[in-house]
Amino acid sequence: MHIHQRRPAKIRADVNSSCANTVAAEVEEEPPSQQAATPISPPAEQKIQHKLSIQSLPPDTPTPRRRFKHLYYPTVTERQWNDWRWQIANRVHTLVQLEKFLDLTDRERNAAMGLQTKLPLAITPYFMSLLVGHGSDYALRKTVVPVVDEFVKSVGEDDDPLGEDTQSPVPGLVHRYPDRVLFLTLDFCSTYCRYCTRSRVVGHGRLFFNRRRLENALDYIRRTPTVRDVLLSGGDPLTLGDARLDWLLTQLRQIKHVEIIRIGTKIPAVLPQRVTPQLVKMLRRHHPLWMSLHFTHPDECTPESFRACQRLADAGIPLGSQTVLLKGVNDSVETMSALVHHLLQMRVRPYYLYQCDPISGSAHFRTSVEKGLEIIRGLRGFTSGYAVPTYVIDAPGGGGKVPLMPEYVMGREDGHVVLKNYEGNLYKYPDCC
Ligand code: SF4
Repeated sequence: MHIHQRRPAKIRADVNSSCANTVAAEVEEEPPSQQAATPISPPAEQKIQHKLSIQSLPPDTPTPRRRFKHLYYPTVTERQWNDWRWQIANRVHTLVQLEKFLDLTDRERNAAMGLQTKLPLAITPYFMSLLVGHGSDYALRKTVVPVVDEFVKSVGEDDDPLGEDTQSPVPGLVHRYPDRVLFLTLDFCSTYCRYCTRSRVVGHGRLFFNRRRLENALDYIRRTPTVRDVLLSGGDPLTLGDARLDWLLTQLRQIKHVEIIRIGTKIPAVLPQRVTPQLVKMLRRHHPLWMSLHFTHPDECTPESFRACQRLADAGIPLGSQTVLLKGVNDSVETMSALVHHLLQMRVRPYYLYQCDPISGSAHFRTSVEKGLEIIRGLRGFTSGYAVPTYVIDAPGGGGKVPLMPEYVMGREDGHVVLKNYEGNLYKYPDCC
């Protein structure tokens, strides 16, 4: 069990003032709260467990989160805890704050000290509650706590491996495929994933929800009638307030050739409090609207995440999940099976399993391609077809997504196709002429 030590009061005061200053700087450019950071209580020994409970969702904050809140934020009300703006205003984003919750390894501490121009550190208190009580090898911790390996650029890695910057006709818009565009709404996320493909852009405070930039991007879409599908991404579009998001969706809906709008978001996994009844009421006015959620590990599928997905699904929004294959996080058939089964219960269709992009400093996250194929082999036939995502590599240089499948067609014999099933048995199918 992971045991936290009490720390002197002076250090706690430093944490809080540092946090308050940074939050104050952030509110000028981001939609989140005007609230000041709330004091963090001394940590104590604990082990927090959580479980997805489909049959009987707790009416409000589950017990593990209550315990965490009681230990670290004793003066915070339940209402504040469940307020997404409070969660954003109180993100853990400095080394001193991080050490309040976790016993850091040298690799983590040195990384947190040296981030400067790199992808920043930020973890919502909610997501931090999932990490506390686990060691440095815990899968979810690896996804959000930096390590020094991020600073090592290996052969073949690039800051923009997908060549998005060269396929951007106007700032904040990527037009790679003929009929769809990627619209980067802002560069802010509530929690930063250490393997983020867009880490060269995300979290640097340079891509704002700026009307002039957005109008430029909208104009491009208006004058490009081949665009029938717009994917809003970033950063995380659901960190925008309802009014701003409503404005943007309304503008897009007024463009006749835009048939569908998709939103890419990690909010249900890292900040499920954001999915309020008011948000889904607004979103359902903009159908057909789809969502690509970003789940990485079964432990992200908490009762709170379940409730968030339930609200979105009840609003008629088809939900798919995009999962990045990550070494030491989800690179086993067992973990991936648990994830896809949880997702289906949450009415989220596992959509893509991505081979991790070769972004700079990603070698410690990347697995072999064979590992991805092994996982697909371990799912296909052993579980519902709906549970099996398409395994893809986003081709470096801007080639787009290339699907990868294990070998199921073994050859041809006398007008037959020779097939291998999920158990490895061979069958012949009479092919037509
Ligand atoms: S939520 Fe998406 S855009 Fe934000 S850091 Fe994670 S992967 Fe990157």
